[in-house]
Amino acid sequence: MDQIRIQGLEIYARHGVFEEERRLGQRFIVDAVLNICLREAGKKDDLSLSTDYGAVCERITQVMQEKPCLLIEAAAERTAEALLLSFPAVESLELTIHKPQAPIPLPFADVAVSIRRGWHTAYVAAGSNLGEREAFLKMGIEGIASHPLCRVEGAAPLYETTPYGGVEQGEFLNTVLRVKTLLSPEELLSLLQEQEQRAGRERKVHWGPRTLDLDLLFFDDLILETPRLIVPHPDMENRDFVLKPLCDLAPGLIHPVKGRPVCALLRELEKNGEVHVMARRTPQEA
Ligand code: ATP
Ligand code: CA
Ligand code: CA
Repeated sequence: MDQIRIQGLEIYARHGVFEEERRLGQRFIVDAVLNICLREAGKKDDLSLSTDYGAVCERITQVMQEKPCLLIEAAAERTAEALLLSFPAVESLELTIHKPQAPIPLPFADVAVSIRRGWHTAYVAAGSNLGEREAFLKMGIEGIASHPLCRVEGAAPLYETTPYGGVEQGEFLNTVLRVKTLLSPEELLSLLQEQEQRAGRERKVHWGPRTLDLDLLFFDDLILETPRLIVPHPDMENRDFVLKPLCDLAPGLIHPVKGRPVCALLRELEKNGEVHVMARRTPQEA
């Protein structure tokens, strides 16, 4: 990935745990490495296709000065988030905050923290088979899209599907979303569960009817297993009602555990006749 590098930006600010640091302030030095595609800007020699490093320096200075933090860790976190939100072409960044005048009663040259932060790409499966199914799905999508640290980049068509898992219940509407996010996987799961709650989801029967179900399928190519969250979703390769809409968005996406593209996983299921997708839902309104 191409980079814009800023080194040694000096900022007078008031971060620190001591009252004196907050009253008097001190000099901080910031370095930033922005990972960003510069090809088009370079080919066309056009600033509007790149990210203005002058504006980046101003934004860093503004965030560093607007609210004193106890820790430079916190100042770094706030600055990184502000840059990723203010400059959408920046995919990820590394930020270092130096505090060469930190109150350490020993001779030292510098102390600094460095963090890497960036946009993640998550795929989220959405399903509903109770009440106003389409309205519940829309509510879930809008709930995710309205989170300041999430962007819904793509949504597959809705599919009418038959239930999975043996419980007698109504037909489902299913889709998949591509979400860009600055949240961690656990934070994203919490956001998904909040949306289910907002839609009045009740957990009575395992794999039973629900107003809204939002499952995290992929989070970049992360493989994760905690008591609360398993990524990739452990049963997705057995569900055509997940793989079909996922393939509409990203057929070549490689399942990081299976090591195969999702379109191949779908083909295999369809070949074995394990089919729940009945039809693509035609939109009722434009
Ligand atoms: P399934 O997960 O087989 O589709 P379900 O969606 O009906 O079943 P839920 O009752 O919605 O299951 O969720 C049960 C638990 O699964 C949640 O409390 C959550 O902590 C956990 N979970 C683990 N991994 C994931 C994931 N990738 N996405 C969503 N929930 C997950
Ligand atoms: Ca589910
Ligand atoms: Ca679920």
